Amino acid sequence: MTAEKITKVNGKMMVPDNPMIPYIQGDGIGPEIWQAAQKVFDAAVQKAYQGARRVSWQSLLAGEVAFKETGQWLPDDTLRVLKEDLVAIKGPLTTPIGEGHRSINVTLRQKLDLYACFRPVNYYEGTPSPVIHPERVNIDVFRENTEDIYAGIEADVGTPAAQAIKQLLASQGQLEKVRFPETAAFAIKPISSEGTKRLVKAAIEHTLNHQRHTLTLVHKGNIMKKTEGSFKKWGYDFLENQYAEQVFTTPQYEQIAQNSGADAADQALANAKQAGKVIVNDVITDNFFQQALLRPENFEVVATMNLNGDYISDALAAQVGGIGIAPGGNINYETGHAIFEATHGTAPQFAGQNRLNPTSIILSGAMMFDYIGWSEVATLIRQGIQSAIKRHHVTEDFATDDTATILSTSGFGDYVANHL
Ligand code: NAD
Repeated sequence: MTAEKITKVNGKMMVPDNPMIPYIQGDGIGPEIWQAAQKVFDAAVQKAYQGARRVSWQSLLAGEVAFKETGQWLPDDTLRVLKEDLVAIKGPLTTPIGEGHRSINVTLRQKLDLYACFRPVNYYEGTPSPVIHPERVNIDVFRENTEDIYAGIEADVGTPAAQAIKQLLASQGQLEKVRFPETAAFAIKPISSEGTKRLVKAAIEHTLNHQRHTLTLVHKGNIMKKTEGSFKKWGYDFLENQYAEQVFTTPQYEQIAQNSGADAADQALANAKQAGKVIVNDVITDNFFQQALLRPENFEVVATMNLNGDYISDALAAQVGGIGIAPGGNINYETGHAIFEATHGTAPQFAGQNRLNPTSIILSGAMMFDYIGWSEVATLIRQGIQSAIKRHHVTEDFATDDTATILSTSGFGDYVANHL
């Protein structure tokens, strides 16, 4: 079997039986968790397809190793391969510190226009959790990945850029809203209708394809009316126009209530549920954080902007065991480009100790196999993780009492690979 690239032809993902999949081991604990994960991936592919399919892993340089070898944190060659090969997986990368350095992760997302960050958050029985009912959390988060305050457009105090912004504000009669203009730094928050629609499209397609029932737009539109408020409005408008037969929205409910009374609106909602429509609602971000702790079962799929999504996905992950277990993928559903990644960082103080948990990157791999249509592999991987945790064969971060068998990073990978 010769290794071939994954391609997208006429909107359809073409996955050969021996796909080349690039990977970036990452910095800090990256190499350790990657090696543990690769063993699990290869064992799961072998078990699912008995040699009829296999992955040819292709190592790419990025981060500290790349900087030492090439003088570039993200070498041009790495970016070229990621552009050509569509689907990749990566460990965590150090964010270089210093003036002018951007996070390599953010750069990758922007260069490949990976606009949707998809983070499913659900509970694996036996995982230590700070909440009483972690099993009630089963929320798929879609975070917009290319806009918002993350665009990195900032002006430091006293710079010509800050001066120009103040002049602009003065010309708009808005400067008086800045409480301390002489000592203020500024940041720009771009939120567009195009960016909103493609993210909301990814979220509704996922909701429909996975038989989920509700989609919630999370925003702080009560305060940031023109940015986050517009996200909500554009999201609803898009869904009501493009998915008219498949959704029932809160504005539609309110319109019926206003025209025909609350009973008619309740009846319309009941009818929509009966007909299997997706119920689309929205919630203000601070309320979402409260509700997600008190009644997480009320949320199924969430669509939100970049900064909200960052906070929300880590807060939800904490309820089901933390960043050691939460997986993620950064995806452009039009071009097909996708990079799946561990959601935690490089944990440099643990590097080389073979102690931390490789589950986040292993489950990110399961997401990747789902994405390329190898769902048998994804299922085996998730079952393997579930059974290891249930049998209390875990890394030290998941060992809450003395019934646990504490495994090293590589030991956990071996255990899962041998018990698929
Ligand atoms: P971190 O996630 O690396 O570590 C914070 C703490 O979380 C660790 O001290 C450890 O206790 C715990 N932890 C992390 N990974 C774990 C695992 N697999 N198993 C068990 N526990 C785990 O965050 P940080 O210390 O703020 O960042 C370190 C570096 O990582 C920085 O350079 C940062 O920029 C980078 N970073 C990269 C990514 C990414 O590549 N996607 C994400 C976040 C941070």
